[in-house]
This record gives sequence, structure tokens and C-alpha cells, in this order.
Amino acid sequence: MKIKFRPHHFLCAVGYEGKGYSAGFIKNFTRIMRILNSENGDNTIIKVVSKLDDVCYSCPHNSGTNCKEQAKIEALDEAHRKILKLNIGETLTWGDAKNRIKKYMTIENHHIACAKCEWLKYGMCERKLRDL
Ligand code: SF4
Repeated sequence: MKIKFRPHHFLCAVGYEGKGYSAGFIKNFTRIMRILNSENGDNTIIKVVSKLDDVCYSCPHNSGTNCKEQAKIEALDEAHRKILKLNIGETLTWGDAKNRIKKYMTIENHHIACAKCEWLKYGMCERKLRDL
């Protein structure tokens, strides 16, 4: 099973607590997290992509060809890509991705990378990062 994530969704997956933009979005993201949190979830292969990914699939902001907030999202993706040293097209396991997040995504980096994310204020990503 291969999952596609745009760069900022690696941290969204760490912080996910079952909240999101719509019922369809939550259902889809919960399905992805069931795979990643399963017994062999750390071996799941994830491909880094630059545009719509498996989390975007059921999102109300997905226009079908792009994110309706693409400019904002591209800046978010680029900040995460640089901090986590991800390359577009690269594949890595979820276990490796979590190790990379632990190593590079400090709380300070999280606040810089996610400064414009509407979910930052709820603090779930910071809480999960501290426990990773
Ligand atoms: S807001 Fe944009 S980047 Fe985020 S999940 Fe929806 S379509 Fe994807």
C-alpha cells in the first residue's frame, strides 16, 4: 500500500485528532491514519508529491485539479519540505518519516513552518510532537 503526502501533511498526520474540513475529509483522513497506526503501519510507503495527495482526496478545498488555496498551501509545503529535508518524488516509510520529524521538526520549527495554518492555535500538533 503506497500513500501520497504533500510535504506539510506528514506533520498533519502526526497531529491528527479526528478533526477536519468536512465529514468526508475526516472519514478519509481517519482511514489513512488507521493504516499508518496499524501493526505494520510504520512500514507503509509514502511518496512525497507537490500537489493534491491522499489527504486532499475528499477535501472541500480540492477543486479536482488543485487546492483552492494553492498559494498558501505551497508556502506551507515548501517550509515543511525544507525542514524535513524531503524531495518531491521521494519515497520513505512512515517509520522513517516519524524519525525525520522527531529529528528536524523542533517546536520552534513547527511554529515557523505552520505560522499561517489555521489549525496551529489548537495546539494538537505541538502536543503530539512533544510525545513523538
Ligand atoms: S486544504 Fe488544500 S492542501 Fe489541505 S487537504 Fe484540502 S485540498 Fe489538500
